[in-house]
Amino acid sequence: MNAWHLVYEGWDPEAQPLREALCTLGNGCFATRGAGEEARAGGPHYPGTYLAGGYDRLKSRVKGRVIENEDLVNWPNWLCLTFRRPGGSWFRLEACEILEYLQALDIKRGILHRRVRFRERDGRVSRLLSRRIVHMGRPHIAAIEWTLTPENWSGPVEVRAALDGTVANAGVRRYADLANRHLNYLGGGRLDGETVYLKVETVQSRIVMAQAARTRAFGGGRRLDVPRKTVRRGAFVSEILEAACAKGRPLRVEKVVALYTSRDHAISEPLDAAAKAAARAEDFKTLERAHARAWKRLWHRCDMSLDGNGNAQLALRLNIFHILQTISTNTTDLDAGVPARGLHGEAYRGHIFWDELYIFPFLNLRIPKITRALLMYRNRRLDEARFAARKAGLKGALFPWQSSSDGREESQVLHLNPESGRWIPDNTHFQRHVNAAIAYNVWQYYEATENWEFLSFRGAVMILEIARFWASLSTFDKTRERYVIRGVVGPDEYHTAYPWSKSPGLDNNAYTNVMTVWVLCCALRMLDILPPDRRRELLEDMDLPKEELERWDDVSRRMFVPFHGDGIVSQFEGYEKLEEFDWRTYRKKYGVIQRLDRILEAEGDSTDCYKVGKQADVLMLFYLFSAEELKGLFERMGYAFLPDLIPKNVRYYSERTSHGSTLSRVVHAWVLARSDREDSWRFFKSALTSDLADIQGGTTPEGIHLGAMAGTTDIVQRCYMGIEMRDEVLWLHPCLPREISGIRLRVRYRGHWITLKATRHTLTVSLDKGWYRSARIGVRKRVYVFKQGQSRRFRLD
Ligand code: BGC
Repeated sequence: MNAWHLVYEGWDPEAQPLREALCTLGNGCFATRGAGEEARAGGPHYPGTYLAGGYDRLKSRVKGRVIENEDLVNWPNWLCLTFRRPGGSWFRLEACEILEYLQALDIKRGILHRRVRFRERDGRVSRLLSRRIVHMGRPHIAAIEWTLTPENWSGPVEVRAALDGTVANAGVRRYADLANRHLNYLGGGRLDGETVYLKVETVQSRIVMAQAARTRAFGGGRRLDVPRKTVRRGAFVSEILEAACAKGRPLRVEKVVALYTSRDHAISEPLDAAAKAAARAEDFKTLERAHARAWKRLWHRCDMSLDGNGNAQLALRLNIFHILQTISTNTTDLDAGVPARGLHGEAYRGHIFWDELYIFPFLNLRIPKITRALLMYRNRRLDEARFAARKAGLKGALFPWQSSSDGREESQVLHLNPESGRWIPDNTHFQRHVNAAIAYNVWQYYEATENWEFLSFRGAVMILEIARFWASLSTFDKTRERYVIRGVVGPDEYHTAYPWSKSPGLDNNAYTNVMTVWVLCCALRMLDILPPDRRRELLEDMDLPKEELERWDDVSRRMFVPFHGDGIVSQFEGYEKLEEFDWRTYRKKYGVIQRLDRILEAEGDSTDCYKVGKQADVLMLFYLFSAEELKGLFERMGYAFLPDLIPKNVRYYSERTSHGSTLSRVVHAWVLARSDREDSWRFFKSALTSDLADIQGGTTPEGIHLGAMAGTTDIVQRCYMGIEMRDEVLWLHPCLPREISGIRLRVRYRGHWITLKATRHTLTVSLDKGWYRSARIGVRKRVYVFKQGQSRRFRLD
């Protein structure tokens, strides 16, 4: 194993679902799981293909109720490639004795390799090699090179290259009771002498997809002109080639697939576009070369190298790889958000959550054009968010907890607890804090890029509408002489209601309240710096009178934050009344207790009753803000921010968190980084391998955890390299963990490309030559003006 290859040796059906998720190939437009070419869904195989923004809604009947869910659709499987002896059965791994098996993901070039040596029942031994790409430079093209070499036999074979539109959304077992047939067959058959096609449409959203597959066979170094026929069985369209195999002589097949949808630009019609693209595509080698070039460019901008720890390095690169496969520059032409579970599986139905908060920092500092596109996904759904706020009797914009096609609330109404088999009302949509994350993300994008145009015309409206929402949700509590926010849920999803109350929602979630103050301050500050004309326009358009802005200011100064004990910020008001949890007994009884919510529900109990957290909640504040920033916010509200507030709270909540969300470890690694380096590294390592090691014991096969993956890259840049963007300066304050001897990465900051190299004792900062004249970079409290091409080395002791 090296730091650029994820290698799996040996066939292991139990590990296959995880391998398939981690060997997914994608280009930001679509992605396909790393299932074998011959595999169909069933047993350990699940060859899903997902399209950025490709959703469909279906109704299901559950517990006598009709519920509607919107899913990221599993599109036709374009991988299908297998063989048989005439009259025999099609090759399947399960039907053979596997003599050798190797599956390797080349992260550097974005290529999935597989090598299988197998013996069939009749004693024939063969080798099968395949290489696969989902083209990063040509977002509508994917290709497979497949080579069969008989070791001890010769004879005729039939090779079948198919497009399978009979697929359903069946990747998540707990959704099995829900409707899952999203595709209608529109047509399929032969296009020309070497190409077949399939055309389907989603049932409700009516997105049309056409796939065209061109298949060519080669032997002895030349193209073979072999007899072929096209066979269609329903939505399964195949091209069957007849070839003669000879002992020791490789039979090579190239399958090049073009994939277009009715959402694509610059086309006449999807099938027309797919047919043209398949016919015009180059051979596998040429496609592969251009694809590897596109990856080389991405790595030049996005790699982070860690010295002294090969395992961490591989895991970090794998995380970067999957971020860029889910959202790449190809995504910037689409109307798509970033699904929390990537384009790698069907968990959470491909919905978009607040996980953006963890994902955007990596993009902001490298390819901010992607962040901009993802913010535009939110911006286009502003009207839906305005409507949601009005419906809730509030002002401004209320973005949904779970979002997909049009920005309405997509959180499920009921969810299944697999531990108890019960369907339970889902109240997680009271997580209004997603709105604060969106405002925060707009501002961070601006800090990284100084993109005034975006801020004044798109970002400003979002920030102001969100600020307005928070101000209208805040009510004045006369007894306290402070503003309060009632009936919400914080990031910790184990608490959605008080144990003594019948209705969902909690009062004064500290994270939500402080974020409200931050958003209001941000909105007011932004109005101050916007050009007067634009400010006037915005205030006019939004009908924002002076009195309302004054109220925002007042809310931001008199917001209530609950405390209990000796300086503990209460997760929400009344938290101190909950019972302490008996961790030891539960650990002993269940071993893995990450999903205590499910365990307790199955026992007829509830996490709502205990001081137990699924994930960081109060601690999110220390993740997002520096101590200085927080001090400013707390003092603005009239609360003392004592120097021991952070360590005290970190200790308190660390002891009460089960880390039932992969996001939690990212935050804990962060908040402990400067106080308890050993524990911090432990959290970092486990966050880093959230998916690689499937630390939740079975969730990764249903989709990666993109927030945790990206969160770990953010720890490297913002925590270990100590990057902070503040007041138009890029501040650097490296602090490397003992386990890493050096970090090298490049960041794009306000138009500059800057190379940063840190060891435990030195920091080297080099500015590329470029369009922009100079950059302001702060090291150890001093700001340096860097000219283009300039490099400086600092001692860190
Ligand atoms: C976490 C949320 C997260 C969601 C999607 C949940 O388990 O509690 O914070 O947004 O997963 O990743």
